[in-house]
Amino acid sequence: MTDVYCPRCGEPWDMEELHYVTLRDVAQLARRLYPDNPDLQGRLVKSVMIRIQGGEIFVVFEHAYALFTRYGCWVFGNYCEPQEDSEIAARARIVYEMLGPSDPDGAAALLNE
Ligand SMILES: [Zn+2]
Repeated sequence: MTDVYCPRCGEPWDMEELHYVTLRDVAQLARRLYPDNPDLQGRLVKSVMIRIQGGEIFVVFEHAYALFTRYGCWVFGNYCEPQEDSEIAARARIVYEMLGPSDPDGAAALLNE
């Protein structure tokens, strides 16, 4: 199991969990980010690619990871507060910024060394 860390609070998440982010989670995230702007909510929801499995609509891993690098726990419906004194959160922000939103294995390797 490989952990990635929330860039807001530093909470570790097993990278596998990102395979199970649902479209409902993203809709909830969109409402949280843009409470007064249904257009932006819709745009975020439509920007992710999905796969359907067992009657549930999941976001493809790559897009779930990209959202995670920006919003961390929020992607899973956990509304964490930013922890300014979390070293691992600060490190995660730097690593995600450096590697961009499409290198989960590289980020995990740097964050877990
Ligand atoms: Zn968090």
